[in-house]
Amino acid sequence: MDPVIAAVNVRGKHQERGGTVLSFVPISMEDFVKKYVASNPGSKPAEVRERLKAALKDFNAGVPCRCGNPIWVIGSAEVGRACFTCITGEAMPDRDYEIREACIK
Ligand SMILES: [Zn+2]
Repeated sequence: MDPVIAAVNVRGKHQERGGTVLSFVPISMEDFVKKYVASNPGSKPAEVRERLKAALKDFNAGVPCRCGNPIWVIGSAEVGRACFTCITGEAMPDRDYEIREACIK
């Protein structure tokens, strides 16, 4: 194999395995709560915010998904602590939101 292609492949795999997912769209918690409540009319902003804060706290504490990847805060607030892939079944986020604080790390 062409050494350049091999290097690119290795780097790609490394990024995947490290779980550093960069294709999330960062959003502030307040903006996400507004969006969430708008698309889920029965939900209470205070409860949504509390669930997100709890998930973000676990993220910051380094609580991993069962597969070892960092958790996806927005998804974890809804369905329990898990990474994007385990929650959605998709390999990579595609314009999915993540709380800004969880994107910085
Ligand atoms: Zn996972």
